[in-house]
Amino acid sequence: MKSGTRTVIIGAGIVGLCTAYELLQHGRDVIVLERESTLDGASAGNAGLFSIGHAPLTKPGASWRGLRWMLDSQSPLWIRPSLSPALLRWLWTFHRHCTTDHLERATRTLCALGWRTAQALEHLLDQEGIDCFYRRCGWLDLILDERNLDAAQREGRALARYGYRTDRISGAELRRRDPAYRDEVAGAIHYLDSAILHPGLLLRGLLHAVRAHGGTVRLGCEVAGFARASDGRCIGARLGSGEVVEAGSVVLAAGIWSDPLAAQLGIAVPMQAARGYHLQLEGIGALPQHGGVMHETFVAYNPMGSQLRLAGTLEIGATGRPWMRKRLQMLTAGAQRYLHGIDRAHVTAEWAGYRPCTADGMPVVGPVPTIPGLFIGTGHAMMGLMLGPVTGRILCADICGGRQEIDPELLGVIRPRRLRPSLAA
Ligand SMILES: Cc1cc2nc3c(=O)[nH]c(=O)nc-3n(C[C@H](O)[C@H](O)[C@H](O)COP(=O)(O)OP(=O)(O)OC[C@H]3O[C@@H](n4cnc5c(N)ncnc54)[C@H](O)[C@@H]3O)c2cc1C
Repeated sequence: MKSGTRTVIIGAGIVGLCTAYELLQHGRDVIVLERESTLDGASAGNAGLFSIGHAPLTKPGASWRGLRWMLDSQSPLWIRPSLSPALLRWLWTFHRHCTTDHLERATRTLCALGWRTAQALEHLLDQEGIDCFYRRCGWLDLILDERNLDAAQREGRALARYGYRTDRISGAELRRRDPAYRDEVAGAIHYLDSAILHPGLLLRGLLHAVRAHGGTVRLGCEVAGFARASDGRCIGARLGSGEVVEAGSVVLAAGIWSDPLAAQLGIAVPMQAARGYHLQLEGIGALPQHGGVMHETFVAYNPMGSQLRLAGTLEIGATGRPWMRKRLQMLTAGAQRYLHGIDRAHVTAEWAGYRPCTADGMPVVGPVPTIPGLFIGTGHAMMGLMLGPVTGRILCADICGGRQEIDPELLGVIRPRRLRPSLAA
């Protein structure tokens, strides 16, 4: 196979593997290069909520709440205090995007992508027979404090104009349907169109599907940089060993680590790593039938086989720091008032990983206008599992020259200044 029709993909997370899968469906030759020898990064360890119709992090008021929480390492969102210019620039840009206008525009785009990504995922699962406990049963926004119910319902109803359905359930009705919930739960908003799944099983199934369709996935293979032709075109990836893997196109899908790789080419993809944790619990008794998010503590829960996964906390700071055990413990503490049996369960696994967060809350997906042959798919923050399948389709269409129906101003690699005032390199 000539390298001209080959695509090299850097990173075997959900974005990299979905892109590989779509390209293989279009008859392309694909090589995925993955630094780790096992797939247990963010794409495998996340909460497994396939929550279509998601709003971005940049909501009005979110930046002020973040600042209040900054000094409290027990809060669900914690920003490690630092005077790093990159962090300060990111915070300022984030703050500038916490507006009603941006929220509306971003939500419209994300809601449209939501329907497309569900279709792409269900097609993939059907075609490849991947069993990852996928259930289109919706997710629950579980609420303890009666006073939060009306606002949560308004938030859900705001999605109705994009076709998303929600249902308000009283605490009594919730417990009648599912005795896993404790008496303290005042009610829930049920986001009916979403799904839950086991992300590790999905990733394993995708890896298998990519290989079965003739794609190559090289694990334990770290990319150190890019190969460029004399005309500036990107023609491959350079490994740490010096080997160059040549290709007609290169996709950078290395999650939070995309930023330093892109910087080698003078491209700014400014992101902050938002670390989150998960705990896998066995023996809580009857598992809840749905997954969801505990409104007041931001802990996500998802029944996976005989176990319950609790996931959450958002800790903004540099990668590679030691785990903060008190933040892991916040998961069980944050779940106890909502679900029975948390205190008697035992922990079978602990995990931490990084969400790649852009300052405007929107992913970066598309070609790099200044470097022919290079494409980027990253910055999906807390929506990467959900947006991975449609991101794969968008990048595949970009590479194969298909027609796009996305808002390039919101998702493109270079955002217009008016949308991203201080984010430019
Ligand atoms: C606690 C938590 C809960 C979450 N819950 C949800 C959820 O319920 N729903 C949802 O939609 N999203 C959720 N997310 C977000 C989601 O997990 C991420 O947005 C998504 O996994 C990002 O996927 P990715 O492919 O961009 O990056 P990653 O999964 O990080 O994959 C990037 C890959 O690139 C590899 N790589 C990096 N550098 C190199 C290099 N130089 N050479 C080769 N390979 C390299 C990495 O090893 C990694 O495997 C959650 C995240 C966390 C942390």
